Amino acid sequence: MTPAGYILIRPETLVGVQKAVEAAMGPAAADCLAAGGRAGGARATAGAAGDATARVRRLLAQGAEIGWGQFTLERLTPSALVVSVTGSPFARAYGGATAPVCHLTRGVLEALATAVLDRPRSVSETACAAMGAARCRFETTAA
Ligand SMILES: [Zn+2]
Repeated sequence: MTPAGYILIRPETLVGVQKAVEAAMGPAAADCLAAGGRAGGARATAGAAGDATARVRRLLAQGAEIGWGQFTLERLTPSALVVSVTGSPFARAYGGATAPVCHLTRGVLEALATAVLDRPRSVSETACAAMGAARCRFETTAA
């Protein structure tokens, strides 16, 4: 059963949008997709109770429940968040790529980072299964 407030959509549908936007816009497409992830992530983190660790773990568990892959919290400090994802449906649906492709997940994690870290920080996908990595890895940038 789909959780309340969600619709089901195939990864291939989202990746179809992603590839069309990439063809139309080039590299700027990645930030557009991340913006969508941030909007959804802000909704997901709003009203979440508990300390930073509890909020992060809850959101990562929800990510697995809705089929975005198996999330692992690698590091959480007041200024840094590092998360890895095994089995990203976005990477799987995308196929081989020369750059990271999981921009929706990156955006969600940026919203999460904004909610729990000392100040808003960008997130980079530093490894991606679409590029042949064993798992996707997302890290807040130091700046
Ligand atoms: Zn990825």
